[in-house]
Amino acid sequence: MTDVMRQPESAARERGRVPTPPAVVAAAPSGGIELRSVRKSFGSTPAVDLPALSVPAGSLTVLVGPSGCGKSTLLRMIAGLETPEAGHIHIDGQDITAARPGERGVAMVFQDFALYPHMTVAANVGFGLVLEAKHAGRGALPRAEISRRVRDVCDLLGLGDKLGRRPRELSGGERQRVALARALVRRKPVLLLDEPLSNLDAGLRAQARAELIRLHREVAGTFVLVTHDQAEALSLGTRVVVLRAGRLEQAGTPEEIWRCPANLFVARFLGSPAMNIVADSRGRLLGWRPADAIALGVTSPPAAPTDAGEVFEGEVDVTEFVGDRRMAHCVGDHGPWSVEFPAATPVAVGQRIRVLVPAGSLHHFDAQTGTRL
Ligand code: ATP
Repeated sequence: MTDVMRQPESAARERGRVPTPPAVVAAAPSGGIELRSVRKSFGSTPAVDLPALSVPAGSLTVLVGPSGCGKSTLLRMIAGLETPEAGHIHIDGQDITAARPGERGVAMVFQDFALYPHMTVAANVGFGLVLEAKHAGRGALPRAEISRRVRDVCDLLGLGDKLGRRPRELSGGERQRVALARALVRRKPVLLLDEPLSNLDAGLRAQARAELIRLHREVAGTFVLVTHDQAEALSLGTRVVVLRAGRLEQAGTPEEIWRCPANLFVARFLGSPAMNIVADSRGRLLGWRPADAIALGVTSPPAAPTDAGEVFEGEVDVTEFVGDRRMAHCVGDHGPWSVEFPAATPVAVGQRIRVLVPAGSLHHFDAQTGTRL
């Protein structure tokens, strides 16, 4: 976001001829990140080991994976807070592997985004710029420009009427937005966000997700966000990077990794409840998502033609009411599986049910390697 707000009319605006828009207008996306052979270990444990990874300029790339898979370490290496023991990191074509954090063109929002309690929202947001200005000497940003930037970014984040409040006078969601504003005001090409929504309750989280998507669209920078929540990754990301034990399992659009998971790990990691996996007669593993099955009922005609899909039969072990749907967890000949029905469907524990999984919704995996076939 270095170039954000550096629009052609900015000089005229400076002279007071063009009114400052409340929202930040997008510049061409910048902040493309390339990682090449990046490795980092703590003791004998490799935390990150990535032959190659690209974060496209202008993307909202989400790093997702189970606890300890190396997401934060990777983010911290991009930020310059950890040093890779091997490999190179480029931002917009510049090798920044050895650059200091302040020279990389990145801003970061930490999970534990401590705000200064005695300072107002405006002072919290502008603090970094004021500090930089103090040390910058002649090239320093004038105070008026800092105030203008603070106002612009606070307007963008819906904090325009809260500039004079202290953090204790804000809701959790508002404090979160102050932390975001504090990073955005620095106008760096890359914004790094470490579990930025984890301190919010469920309702606020859903709202904050939508706000982040909108914000990303409006500032046209590159966002790299860490989460362990697969649903959050799918809903937020324009690109999702799935990590396990420091290694890349799959990277792609949310649709790609949902529709074509590269292996069993990715298939089971995405989706709640997880994809059903059962062995077929040829020793391969068949996967299908609980929502993709069509109930046949025990009284409907026997198995559909084989090229239409696979029919699974089982006994309902547990049912769960989940609002508009009902989950049935079943025990079948080839192991347990779950299926999702409309809530009004009568399913009872002990009932035998049959479902058809259309051929297009079946995923095949190698039983030995777990790789998609
Ligand atoms: P979480 O979702 O739990 O935050 P993560 O995916 O962000 O996890 P990292 O924090 O990057 O994972 O940690 C990756 C691995 O490196 C873990 O095994 C962790 O224990 C280890 N690790 C991270 N930081 C350090 C450190 N400073 N010293 C020693 N080991 C560390």
